[in-house]
Order: sequence, then C-alpha cells, then structure tokens
Amino acid sequence: MRLILLGPPGAGKGTQAVRLTERLGVPQLSTGDMLRAAVAASSPVGLQAQAMMERGELVSDEIVLSLVAARIEQSDAQRGFVLDGFPRTVGQAVALDTMLGEMGLALDAVLELQVDLNALVARMTGRVAEARARGEATRADDNPDAFRTRLETYREQTVPLSSYYAERGLLRSVDGMLSVDRVAIEVMSSLGLKL
Ligand code: AMP
Repeated sequence: MRLILLGPPGAGKGTQAVRLTERLGVPQLSTGDMLRAAVAASSPVGLQAQAMMERGELVSDEIVLSLVAARIEQSDAQRGFVLDGFPRTVGQAVALDTMLGEMGLALDAVLELQVDLNALVARMTGRVAEARARGEATRADDNPDAFRTRLETYREQTVPLSSYYAERGLLRSVDGMLSVDRVAIEVMSSLGLKL
C-alpha cells in the first residue's frame, strides 16, 4: 500500500506511521527524519536545510523532492510506503503524482489526522517537558516560536492538500484527538484493516 499521513505538527503522524509500517510491512518515509539525518551528517543538503528547519519554515521543494525520489526507488519501498511529512505543499503533491505516474504507480489513500490546532502548542510543550524529564534530547524546532511558525506554515501551505486529495477520492479523515490506540484503530479501519 502507498499511503500519505497528513496532519499538523504534533498531531501524532509519526506514531501512527510506525503503527502502519508494522501492520503493513512497508517503510515509513519521513522527510523530517531524512532532513535531520542530513543536518546531523553536515551534508550539503543538511547545511542548506538547517536554518529553515530551526525556524520552522519549509525547506525548498527541490531538496525534499530529490530526497523522496531517491528513497522511493530503494528496494524496501517497492511493496509500498507510508509518507510522513511529505507532501506539504500542493506543488509537492503534484510532483509526487508525476513521479509515481512515471513509475507506473499510484497512491492508495491519504489519511488525515484532524486535530484542534489550538491544542497543539500545549501538547508540544507537554511533550518536550516529559522528554526533558526523562533526560532525552528534544528537537531544535520544538520551541514555542518555531512551533508557531510550523503551525502557521501548515495552515497556509499544507491545509489545501486536503481538498486536493478529496477531489481525487483519496482522502480519509480520522479524529486525531482520540487516544493513540483509538486513532490507530480508526486509521486501520479507514483502510479496511484490523489492528
Ligand atoms: P517534520 O519532522 O515532518 O515535522 O519536519 C521537520 C522540518 O523539516 C519541517 O519543519 C521543515 O522545515 C522540514 N521539512 C520536512 N518535510 C518537509 C517537506 N515535505 N517540505 C519542506 N520542508 C520539510
């Protein structure tokens, strides 16, 4: 299955992506993880992306599209994938359609986690406080200023993707304010799967 997980920062996309990959036996393709790895490795892409990421702004389509194109061609993605954090703009969605079309592939579904955007800043600060209490590292962009920019960017650039995929009959919306387990059940059932 080829899936996209859509939802604002802090909605729980990463957690649900992991559940889906375990259930379906396909990899999670997270552009955020790929970019953080590039930053950690100080690669040319990482050096270009770092400042934008720390501010909570989007890195260029050119960078993410080349990362995704290379990743989709790897052997473990041949049976399918769960895209997490990509696409984030209509331009990226169109480019993805073209990319898959050229490979003779198509998306099966787009799962949208619907959450109350106003609750997300509180969720993020709670999550960061818990991680710090456990002595874990936190993300450079999990601070109030960058997080607000990430939410604003989502509102402006990513929200239009819901209608883009609804028009193509691919959108499935799930209430992301439920418990993690409940959301996982709803996600699976929207795909006709059991946990
Ligand atoms: P994420 O882990 O998905 O929240 O992504 C972290 C950061 O990486 C984002 O705030 C952006 O700066 C960058 N990023 C991740 N995915 C994309 C994408 N599809 N397009 C542009 N920037 C992205």
